Amino acid sequence: MKAMSPVTTDLQRDLQTSAPAAPTAAGEDRPSLIGLGREPLAAALADVGVPQGQTRMRSAQLWHWLYVRGVTDFDMITNISKDLRARLAETFALPRPEIVSEQISADGTRKWLLRFPPRGAGRPVEVETVYIPEESRGTLCLSSQVGCTLNCTFCHTGTQTMVRNLTSEEIVGQILLARDRLEDYPGRTPGHGNGTPPTGRLVSNIVMMGMGEPLYNFDNVKDALLIASDGDGIGLSRRRITLSTSGVVPMIARTGAEIGVMLAISLHAVRDDLRDELVPLNKRYPIAELLDACRAYHGLSNARRITFEYVMLKGVNDSLADARELVRLLRGIPSKINLIPFNPWPGSAYECSDWDQIERFADIVNAAGYASPIRTPRGRDILAACGQLKSESERLRIRERMALEAMIAG
Ligand code: SAH
Ligand code: SF4
Repeated sequence: MKAMSPVTTDLQRDLQTSAPAAPTAAGEDRPSLIGLGREPLAAALADVGVPQGQTRMRSAQLWHWLYVRGVTDFDMITNISKDLRARLAETFALPRPEIVSEQISADGTRKWLLRFPPRGAGRPVEVETVYIPEESRGTLCLSSQVGCTLNCTFCHTGTQTMVRNLTSEEIVGQILLARDRLEDYPGRTPGHGNGTPPTGRLVSNIVMMGMGEPLYNFDNVKDALLIASDGDGIGLSRRRITLSTSGVVPMIARTGAEIGVMLAISLHAVRDDLRDELVPLNKRYPIAELLDACRAYHGLSNARRITFEYVMLKGVNDSLADARELVRLLRGIPSKINLIPFNPWPGSAYECSDWDQIERFADIVNAAGYASPIRTPRGRDILAACGQLKSESERLRIRERMALEAMIAG
């Protein structure tokens, strides 16, 4: 979801200092129950003295309150005893990520810069989460890592030092935080403004397209997505969850078998020499191997296609010969193609292809039977694709501090 570019900020409603009503993880030393799978949750209940025969039933109750109702306070859980609620509250917490900034675009797109506390000896870390409302759905774009090790040359996240993997709690925390801020829980009034999509949910889709390579953080991403797709909890169908990878071939089969979500592949080039440059992981897992892994993807069919992402870089990968080769390469693989206008960032070596060229490229792709493949840029007025909000927010904070200092000095 990196198709947004920094343009104007005048319509921006920037809530830099907004604090969530829910407890945040900062300074919290009780372990969180968010992000635990069903079995670890039952084990946590056994630890606070719930008798073995009751742990299943109690953890099912808790699961509902945590993920369907989104409670952040054990006292709101009305169908368990006061005594058990007190024991849970003494031992555990239900925190949310701390909001560093929340920005709401004129088109309803929201971006959050979220801070998580240190794990072990590390420092607090910040990641981005983006919500994109459309008429028929609302998509939440989640981060999986702080930074990325893969250094794709067109990607801003790739220039940031990899700090660490996010935990399952932190990935699920992004979903819950977004639902809190959007009031996206049954029985609460949606705070969305554009009406609720026909799915009845504001967050109806999830894409793992924020910061990081999700298949380099497989276990945590798997735990988090199994929670997101659990029918008794957050309850998003696996068909509404898409995991995007730059092509970590050995993990693709496991993604299909163990998580079962939709797959998106960051292809971006149709020749190995160019893909080696744009997506250096291609040197390890070249295009032919990647496409073989796609052909073998679990459940692949015309109803469950793989999305191929293709960032449009002027004069680099956007020739009509490239378009024809793309169509040829994907023949026989049930696919969708997403052409993504390149979102430039300060210091990037590329330019976005001219709109005419994108359209000519798209015509070839369309003629081969792929429908409306150009991803529309969203949230233009609130800056930043994933990976860029963070640095922009640092800049804004510095600017604000300077203004404040000037005021004090004056
Ligand atoms: N690491 C994963 C998921 C995160 S990136 C991956 O690479 O697939 C999500 C998508 O945004 C990828 O397709 C990525 O190639 C694309 N992207 C990254 N930087 C971009 C930019 N500056 N402009 C447009 N798309 C970009
Ligand atoms: Fe990492 Fe994806 Fe960016 Fe490549 S495009 S550097 S894999 S986040």
